[in-house]
Amino acid sequence: MAGSGATQIPVLSQGRAAVYEEPTGPAGIRVRELPRTEPPRGSVSVAIRAASINHLDLFLAQGLQRVSPPRVIAADGAGVISASGDPAWKPGDEVVIYPVVCDWVCEWCRSGQNVRCPHFGVVGEHTDGTACEVFQIDARNVFRKPKALSWEEAGAFPLTFLTAWRMLTTRARLQAGEKVLIVGAGGGVAVAAAAIAKHLGAKVFVTSRSEAKRRRALELGAEAAFESTDFSKAVRDATDGGADVVVEHVGPATLSESMRSVVMGGRIVTCGSTTGVKAEITMPRLFWGQLDLLGSTMGNASEFEAVLEAIDRGLRPVVDRVYPLADVQAALSRLEAAEQFGKVVLSVSA
Ligand SMILES: [Zn+2]
Repeated sequence: MAGSGATQIPVLSQGRAAVYEEPTGPAGIRVRELPRTEPPRGSVSVAIRAASINHLDLFLAQGLQRVSPPRVIAADGAGVISASGDPAWKPGDEVVIYPVVCDWVCEWCRSGQNVRCPHFGVVGEHTDGTACEVFQIDARNVFRKPKALSWEEAGAFPLTFLTAWRMLTTRARLQAGEKVLIVGAGGGVAVAAAAIAKHLGAKVFVTSRSEAKRRRALELGAEAAFESTDFSKAVRDATDGGADVVVEHVGPATLSESMRSVVMGGRIVTCGSTTGVKAEITMPRLFWGQLDLLGSTMGNASEFEAVLEAIDRGLRPVVDRVYPLADVQAALSRLEAAEQFGKVVLSVSA
């Protein structure tokens, strides 16, 4: 189960690991024992203390990603260096994993644009993942764990915070005082976007189907929370004419309403499309409204460092629930039922 041949990037999951074996949903992910090896030069072994799952893992389990089993799941991980093939790290160092797969040597990587790397991918999708006892990866994918975070929090934030950070800062150029609408609050990226937008001094508005999740978003500082259908009028009323930025990840079910929710010149930034891959756009709304429709995926290593700095200044992830690695199927079922608010974490005992 070495790193995928397509990427030529050495990533290895070792020891007990949650392995995607069959496209049968959560039941198709099973805990197996994988062989352990020393890290090659330039790589490190991380004894994982906490990993966390994302919708990506559920899509994988459902056979919706073009990934052939077996594959160890999960992009997010935090732990302790157990063996090092790189002088930058020594056993005992506490780290988090930058969840992007890239070659680190191409022109894009060298210019800091990891997201444009021809070997770009996601840990746990394009290589084996972090839901394991020992995760071996290129030393450049490892960053110091923020001291203020628990292991569960450290294992919770990487993918969603990296994604939401790039969406809001680099892509949508969010400014303090602006109004941000976050569609579908509850999911990992949406909750991360709400936390980051608030941290950056923006006013946060959310939509959710669930009354409990709307209430939770308000407790965490959202100005207002709306039903998830036909929300645009309520948003325009509550924001005095519209949001400056909309964070999208839902797609066809909400895009039209999202485009009606912004001010003239507003920005709609999307990182996903959970309700289908094709959406219809009312073109005059786009050009007459002078709107920016922005795509975004993951983020660069420099953006990951910016997230770490924001965490040092008080930004915090939201952990929904923690399961032991052995209960990975139950953890995935919670995502499948869309019951979570924030991140579902897998705890891996030392
Ligand atoms: Zn590259």
